[in-house]
Amino acid sequence: MIPLSIIKPIETALYEISGKEDRILSCVNVVGGSINSACRIEWADAFYFLKWNSASKFPKMFEYEAIGLNQLKETQSITIPKVYKTGTSQTDAFILMEYIEPGKPSNTFWEQFGKQLADLHRNTNDLFGNSHDNYIGSLPQQNSKTDNWADFFVSMRLMPFVKKAIDNHILTTVHLRQFDSLYTKIPLLFPTEKPALLHGDLWSGNFLCNQTGAPVLIDPAVYYGHREMDIAMSKLFGGFSETFYSSYNQYFSMEKGWEKRVDLCNLYPLLVHLNLFGSSYLYDIERILKEYVSC
Ligand code: ADP
Repeated sequence: MIPLSIIKPIETALYEISGKEDRILSCVNVVGGSINSACRIEWADAFYFLKWNSASKFPKMFEYEAIGLNQLKETQSITIPKVYKTGTSQTDAFILMEYIEPGKPSNTFWEQFGKQLADLHRNTNDLFGNSHDNYIGSLPQQNSKTDNWADFFVSMRLMPFVKKAIDNHILTTVHLRQFDSLYTKIPLLFPTEKPALLHGDLWSGNFLCNQTGAPVLIDPAVYYGHREMDIAMSKLFGGFSETFYSSYNQYFSMEKGWEKRVDLCNLYPLLVHLNLFGSSYLYDIERILKEYVSC
């Protein structure tokens, strides 16, 4: 159930959004997330989506999620739920947003999704990174701005999570040496590209299909990065149609050899998963390291 400490601010927000006096008529749990509690709230003949968690566990998580969703929404490239309110009591934090009523994918769902992601990636910036740090899943993600992708990928993406895994004895000094060796090669491995606005955590659990049959992105970890990061992540756990990739490629050509860099990009989400869920992700990390370093 929604914690008592946030009921009042949520009711106030719902009153302001709807312009209608009411009370929460129903609150149906929504499953599927791995971090927060979530429900569909009914208020004055309309539904809203609410997530909440302890205020101290993941400081500012929902503020960063709101900023990220708004960054994506501002591009008008793909449907993003409208964020209505974030708030915190002494004990709990919440985010209240538009409820996406699930629908059946249209016949052009994947083609549209590929095109819209390409449109999103055309939004660029002078530097890689973002104006603020945020979260990837439940782990803090650093976004300090850097003017080249290789530096950003090494210092903001791989290094912090390699260090965390070493500190937690999930990776060893042998892995550390292999990563050190990989870092020196990374400037030569990626083609130069402009920073692209990324969803940042693009796996199949982070898109929905709405009532018009169109894709909707949720739960991002937004930053300006190399666009192959989103494409690679979409391949990590599967669930994206081949039409998605051909459509993307038609609207924004991928650089030659991108398929070969999928594993390299996915070292990042694999390190995140290694730190979150443990050593079952080690095999893939070791396999990828072996592709690039001999020791
Ligand atoms: P978490 O932050 O815990 O990972 P998610 O943001 O992934 O949670 O949301 C949990 C689930 O809620 C998703 O898998 C999705 O099915 C559903 N969901 C997320 N956002 C919305 C929304 N705006 N409208 C309807 N359902 C949503």
